[in-house]
Amino acid sequence: MSTTVTITGSGTPIMEPGRAGPGVLVRHGETTLQFDCGRATTLRLTETGLRLTNLDALAVTHHHSDHLVGLADLLMSRWLEANRDTHLDPLPIIVPEGIATRLAATTLDPWREEIAMRSDHVGYASTPDPDVRSFAATSSPTEVLRLDQVAVEAVSVRHEPVTPAVGYRVTTPDGTVVISGDTAVCDEVEKLSTGADVLVHEAFRTSAVADLLSDPKALAAYHSDTVALGGLAHRAGVGILILTHLIPSPRTEADKEAFVEEIRAGGYGGEVLVADDLDSITV
Ligand SMILES: [Zn+2]
Ligand SMILES: [Zn+2]
Repeated sequence: MSTTVTITGSGTPIMEPGRAGPGVLVRHGETTLQFDCGRATTLRLTETGLRLTNLDALAVTHHHSDHLVGLADLLMSRWLEANRDTHLDPLPIIVPEGIATRLAATTLDPWREEIAMRSDHVGYASTPDPDVRSFAATSSPTEVLRLDQVAVEAVSVRHEPVTPAVGYRVTTPDGTVVISGDTAVCDEVEKLSTGADVLVHEAFRTSAVADLLSDPKALAAYHSDTVALGGLAHRAGVGILILTHLIPSPRTEADKEAFVEEIRAGGYGGEVLVADDLDSITV
């Protein structure tokens, strides 16, 4: 068996053609986990060949809209895919306690009349409502989900003033995959990713945004400078570094190479992938 990591979205809150909102799909055998659910996540999941009803759980990193705005689409598309003859278990949503929990629990509320009309019309046996499972974010890794041979731990990361915000580590028999979520470069992710086979990390080229943003310092403070991230990946000894949530969004190969050069300048000499949507790595 193998473990596959697929970037379902490499984008940010700012619209960019071809880049869906943030998301990562991790598969080990029949176990299928999605991390974050931004714009067009559901479309990208379908483009991987996944049936939405085969998704085992969704884990959410934090409540910023770019990571959650696709949730209603995922829940209702999964429900419609199941069709009236199939019993549908609620999708487990693993989410840190706080605003993200409330958003997950209420995301279908504006759609109640529409859901009721479809149910009456077609006779669905189930509802699209999720199984929201919140947990207290902590500064040391805590197991938040276990499915067959796959364990998922969460740890608080540094995205203040957005709290809680967490990163995740997925451990399978094939190895470990760490997903940073949105964060400044921090000790928490460094410890979590020590020896990881794959680190999926957000990347922010501080050097490239100074002229683009009215207040680049505010954004730089809660995102990960690419040079500093190269240092983290080197110290942690990660096998493959996948850069996503790319700021500024690369549009050419030269733009992508600029991310890699900064990672190298930070000290990391391993494999770097500047992600496009649907890029996949197998370990
Ligand atoms: Zn974000
Ligand atoms: Zn964020």
